[in-house]
Amino acid sequence: MLQFKDGQQQEEAFYTYGHPKIKLVAHALDIANRVLGEEDVVITSAVRPPHPTLPDGTHKKSFHPKGQAIDVRTKNRTRQWIQHMIYQLETLKTYDPKIQWVLEGRGKENEHLHIEYDTGDPV
Ligand SMILES: [Zn+2]
Repeated sequence: MLQFKDGQQQEEAFYTYGHPKIKLVAHALDIANRVLGEEDVVITSAVRPPHPTLPDGTHKKSFHPKGQAIDVRTKNRTRQWIQHMIYQLETLKTYDPKIQWVLEGRGKENEHLHIEYDTGDPV
């Protein structure tokens, strides 16, 4: 089963406002993980408010406010596990190239797989 960092509230937001494609990706990763028999996949961030505008009037555009992105915790996972999840994502991407991923904060405390459904119009 998928786990959510902030518990029930985030789980509700994900299932209420999450884009169907990003939900499908999350569940595909969950199933791939079950095959490995590892600890549950933890989603550390899913649907979240837009990034506050910076003083210069700019802000980092994101697909999180639209429910089209998730962050999957990779901290304390083996490189092999991360690679297995990436293979899964690459397979999904062959069916829908709008599925994009990036390993953020590599080697750092907040390392995670950021996955988005890139429709070209982030918030
Ligand atoms: Zn993210």
